[in-house]
Amino acid sequence: MKKKRTSAGRRSCRKTYTAGGIAGSILSLLLLLLLNFPSLLPAGLTGRAEPAGSDGGRLTVHYIDVGQGDCALIECDGHYMLIDAGNNHKGAAVEDYLQYQGVTTLDYVIGTHPDADHIGGLDVAICSFDCGTIFLPDVANDTRTYEDVIRAIDEKNYQITDPVAGDTYALGSASFTIIAPNRDYGSELNDWSVGILLQNGRNRFLFTGDAGEDAEEDILENGMDISADVYQVAHHGSRTGTAEDFLKAVDPVYAVISAGENNQYGHPASEVLNRLRTEGVQVFRTDEQGTIIAVSDGTDITWNCSPSVTWQAGEASR
Ligand SMILES: [Zn+2]
Repeated sequence: MKKKRTSAGRRSCRKTYTAGGIAGSILSLLLLLLLNFPSLLPAGLTGRAEPAGSDGGRLTVHYIDVGQGDCALIECDGHYMLIDAGNNHKGAAVEDYLQYQGVTTLDYVIGTHPDADHIGGLDVAICSFDCGTIFLPDVANDTRTYEDVIRAIDEKNYQITDPVAGDTYALGSASFTIIAPNRDYGSELNDWSVGILLQNGRNRFLFTGDAGEDAEEDILENGMDISADVYQVAHHGSRTGTAEDFLKAVDPVYAVISAGENNQYGHPASEVLNRLRTEGVQVFRTDEQGTIIAVSDGTDITWNCSPSVTWQAGEASR
């Protein structure tokens, strides 16, 4: 049986600020230093997007390196969306990255599903930035990490918006459509993942969290066009997702894999890498290349680095 979300009631943002008062001051100082000397930033956290042009239509997607986990920041015309925020211990790094980008307000926050490698840092982001619409799937997880996110939302009197497949929202001159979840997945938290198709002009980006093959089949069955230029590979490249028929429907030019270097799960899986390679997809990887940044002008997509050519499976490094 799945557990529905309930309000946690207790305060967390205030606690975070109190406990982090001194640490926060030190962090601010550090941030000031980094703003003046960006070369001090660790590899993988050095990306800085140019401000949106006055003509609009410029969309930047940051696949932020959070080790084993997911975190993507999307910006269009000064509007921001955050999809996941890595594990608990990555919250501060994600906060720094967003501040460095000049984020003060997140128009949208998506917690794809209540696993720690996705929502762990989300409480920090919700506490630190003004948030507009917050999407979480309607399933709870019996963890302190999940409770912290719910408390942060309650503390700031925000509401949770249920993601409904087919609903479309504007992000500046870009837009995104909810494509998942499509039904009740019980205790299969990964399959509850909120999926979106982000569109900027003719460029399309697909995100499916940790969706497995069952959820992918439901996405295919709901009949929406999920073809995309850029596909963030489901579940860090695990063999549980990116089924062949799903990948053929997406038919991406590029794929981004967010996984931790030498992670214990063997992500990405050799089957998934082979599938991508066979389809001629150019692959970027946070475990090898740090933070990956894609810039779309509505027609073309440019990247902050060249695609990976190692095709090195995670199993090999275990
Ligand atoms: Zn995950």
